[in-house]
Amino acid sequence: MKRNVRYTIIIPVYNEEAVVEETYRRLTRVMEATGEPYELLFVNDGSRDRTAELIESFAGSDKCVRLLDFSRNFGHQIAITAGMDYARGDAVVIIDADLQDPPELIPLMIDKWKEGYEVVYAQRSKRKGETLFKKWTAALFYRTLRALTEVNIPLDTGDFRLIDRKVCDAMRGVREKNRFVRGLVSWVGFRSTAVEYVREERFAGETKYPLKKMLRFSMDGIASFSHKPLKLAAYLGFMISFASFIYLVVSLAQRLFNTGAAAGWPSLIACLLLTDGVILIVLGILGEYVGRIYDETRNRPLYILRNKREVEDAEHEIEVIYSAL
Ligand code: UDP
Ligand code: MG
Repeated sequence: MKRNVRYTIIIPVYNEEAVVEETYRRLTRVMEATGEPYELLFVNDGSRDRTAELIESFAGSDKCVRLLDFSRNFGHQIAITAGMDYARGDAVVIIDADLQDPPELIPLMIDKWKEGYEVVYAQRSKRKGETLFKKWTAALFYRTLRALTEVNIPLDTGDFRLIDRKVCDAMRGVREKNRFVRGLVSWVGFRSTAVEYVREERFAGETKYPLKKMLRFSMDGIASFSHKPLKLAAYLGFMISFASFIYLVVSLAQRLFNTGAAAGWPSLIACLLLTDGVILIVLGILGEYVGRIYDETRNRPLYILRNKREVEDAEHEIEVIYSAL
């Protein structure tokens, strides 16, 4: 594989025409200051606006810019994965396109990397310009995840991080379909450290993570790293059955000794609904895992690229496609 660059910056973009120019400008300024060769690897996740054209135009005048163009929207986590598959740098940085992750932090990450750390993640000490709802749900999610999983996923970190070539190669070997990249990075291990930063407001445009995507994302995070929800299902079922058994004994006793009002229709219905509810919850949890098994067995490629040029470019890239098929 051609390995002529020192740093690869992976930037997933989805309908980011409002910010991509400024992002390109700021990243270029920061990376040029390092004085070492770098590439800006944009992954266009099926944008429907002018994002891809804009990136093509940067690439026209700047050799450091590369574009991976998805055939449709495959999702943020898949976009990052594709970036890691095609990255050529000795160190790889993943950053959001909307400048919520300040590019100016990259030199600090590079310093840590040069000290010998293989993963340098950026930890948010503050989040600016996001709704209380987003902050609370995010805080709750990271804490739930921590409580439920065995993998040590650091609190309040996003995908903004630097990883060494070794980590990137290890990640390329992990081909599971429902991907929670920051969890997988912790899972592959290596020596890691954190740098703190204040998460800025989005430079322009709107969030590309509506509630539905956020829920999907958190389910991926939890279900990919923990079987505890399955155990919870059994536990809940057991508790409810036990409670109904006690209730049954009590109502039988009441009937035999004719004390108190007979346990009537309402309580019967209440019990039925309760157990039905539990059964449905349990089925839902089972469904999540069965769905995952189904995704894995179908074994579809994680993504499909529109631009064949990138695919045919180098041997390893062909190999990546094959291993994904
Ligand atoms: N993104 C993507 N595909 C998607 C959704 C988002 O590539 O389906 C990119 C988006 O362009 C941005 C990054 O992922 O660079 C983070 O998205 P966003 O800033 O909208 O998320 P938030 O910061 O609101 O959680
Ligand atoms: Mg953002």
